Amino acid sequence: MSVKPVMSNDNNDVVDDDSYEFRSGSHDFENRMHKFNMSFLRALAKPILPAGYWSKNRYSRHDEKTPINLTFDDGPNPATTRELLVVLEDEQVKGTFFFIGENIRLYPDLVEAVHKAGHIIGNHSMTHTFLPNLTRKAVEKEIDQTNQLITDIVGAGPTLFRAPYGIMDKRCAEALKERRMSTVYWGAMADDFRPIGEDAVVSRIMKQIPGNELVVLHEGRHPSQCIRSTREIIKRSKDLGFTFEPIQ
Ligand SMILES: [Zn+2]
Repeated sequence: MSVKPVMSNDNNDVVDDDSYEFRSGSHDFENRMHKFNMSFLRALAKPILPAGYWSKNRYSRHDEKTPINLTFDDGPNPATTRELLVVLEDEQVKGTFFFIGENIRLYPDLVEAVHKAGHIIGNHSMTHTFLPNLTRKAVEKEIDQTNQLITDIVGAGPTLFRAPYGIMDKRCAEALKERRMSTVYWGAMADDFRPIGEDAVVSRIMKQIPGNELVVLHEGRHPSQCIRSTREIIKRSKDLGFTFEPIQ
């Protein structure tokens, strides 16, 4: 089943439930500001960008929680991917990996391992460039080359696409539609492509999760930060009654 593109039609960005607060020491102010900035960014981006998946928001009843979609961008990475598979196996969680074509070419065995473990693999472009700067033909090449690499390894092409930096335009949306692929955007993010530390990553993500169950983590840099924060986010989310599912 593929993800049905959904338009922004909710007010979840203004949810501010203190029950989801976690201690983060002296960085609490920065983490609160991060949450504010993320809400602002999402509010700006959702109406402008082509339709796509932001978060399922499946339940309206207060006591039922929307399953969390854990997503990992920028791999495969030999310093991170196998360790992430161990964490996800330990916790019995299935995630979604958005791989960059150039990395797939370098580490096809990691792609195979992720697929065999039952996780979903999505396309994160070939070169991780800013797609709105490219011609339509070049955008198609970014999509198609990566699709082909994934197909060659797992036997089927991906149905999910996440644009580098989360930004794409109408031409890219049209190219994806022609290929029956769905666009996945972003929900909870933590600036974890910078070395901000595991505590900040966990705190920032947990502050945003209610209403933004589409969690974006980056495995391209700072491997131990990524692995440790993934384990902790899963643990804390489970304690709060959340379940997990891949995007599909
Ligand atoms: Zn990326």
